[in-house]
Amino acid sequence: MSKSADMLIDFIRDYYKTSEVIPLHAPVFSGHEKDYVVDTLESTFVSSVGAYVDRFEQDVASYTGSPKAVAAVNGTAALHIALKLAGVASGDLVITQPLTFVATCNAIAYCGAEPVFVDVDRDTLGLSPQALEQWLSENAFVDAEGLCRTRLDHKVIRACVPMHTFGHPAELDSLIRVTREWSLALVEDAAESLGSFYKGQHTGTFGEIGALSFNGNKIITTGGGGMILADEPTAARAKHLTTTAKKPHSYEYIHDELGYNYRMPNLNAALGCAQLEQLEKLITIKRELASNYQSLFQNSSMQFITEPADCRSNYWLNGVICENKNQRDELLNHTNCKGVMTRPIWALMSHLPMYQNCRRGDLTNAEWLEERVVNLPSSVKSGDSV
Ligand SMILES: *Cc1c(COP(=O)(O)O)cnc(C)c1O
Repeated sequence: MSKSADMLIDFIRDYYKTSEVIPLHAPVFSGHEKDYVVDTLESTFVSSVGAYVDRFEQDVASYTGSPKAVAAVNGTAALHIALKLAGVASGDLVITQPLTFVATCNAIAYCGAEPVFVDVDRDTLGLSPQALEQWLSENAFVDAEGLCRTRLDHKVIRACVPMHTFGHPAELDSLIRVTREWSLALVEDAAESLGSFYKGQHTGTFGEIGALSFNGNKIITTGGGGMILADEPTAARAKHLTTTAKKPHSYEYIHDELGYNYRMPNLNAALGCAQLEQLEKLITIKRELASNYQSLFQNSSMQFITEPADCRSNYWLNGVICENKNQRDELLNHTNCKGVMTRPIWALMSHLPMYQNCRRGDLTNAEWLEERVVNLPSSVKSGDSV
């Protein structure tokens, strides 16, 4: 074990060419970031009004092929509004995967709804269409009004939120088929998958609504930020809700429903515009790194996680699946002791105190992965750039 861990450490140190601590994921600013940010300072438009917000929204819409994109203060807020616009309301149930970052479930809970956990697939790490179909067949029915309800207590199951884990697209074709069949809104948590395409189409644009994140650890960053991907009418509603539901008027303050202060400041959008210009170059470098990792683990008992068939993944965060928990713990200890940052995958949402009593299907794969997955340093090396 320590032999393959040593090989890994040598490879990573040689790749990043540093004796310092090597982080899991650090941002790279090698384009127009400084120019655009300074531009907002000089214009004084640093806050929620400004040209960079509009430009960033247009740039993201055109990159992803989404009809519209609406910027938000962070990915969690974007997902919260996406769920509200998908009709998720107090007392509803929303199906998602237990193997995700906590924000997915928190956004559901902010709507007053409750997550239901359905298993993931071992190859995509995303929500399993088979597990979804099975849970629904055993626990749900579609009523005369076309609402999906639980058999047990007739609660409405409003939506389904798959997450594209580490940037690898979930099996969208089948998820679309199952959610349509069961009258569920499909809301994609695409926070980790900017730049990832499924059968040539950008993740986050398959469902009714999608949400992106530009947090500091994501593939590109705005410091903090998020984006809602939607069609025109839904995007107009999203803009309204994220801007305190203020009616357009030249001087009066009229707010016509409960809105949110979820706008992205212009300062952050400026950084986003510059980062988006770098995205394809960053992905090229990240895919080369992933391919190097893949070769390194070719004959190892650890299995490197690769993109699903018919997909182009952004390889945001690289990972390996260890043989068992022992091997995982040894790898984590060994690398972190040597200043190479590696991390276990998230604890399952179904194990967290606020979600431990939520409904769930069989979670064998998620539990299997929870004990085995380790994330590896995945930054673009700054010397390489771009
Ligand atoms: C990063 C992330 C989010 C959103 O996070 P913010 O920090 O609020 O931008 C949501 N879901 C997943 C799976 C994420 O990784």
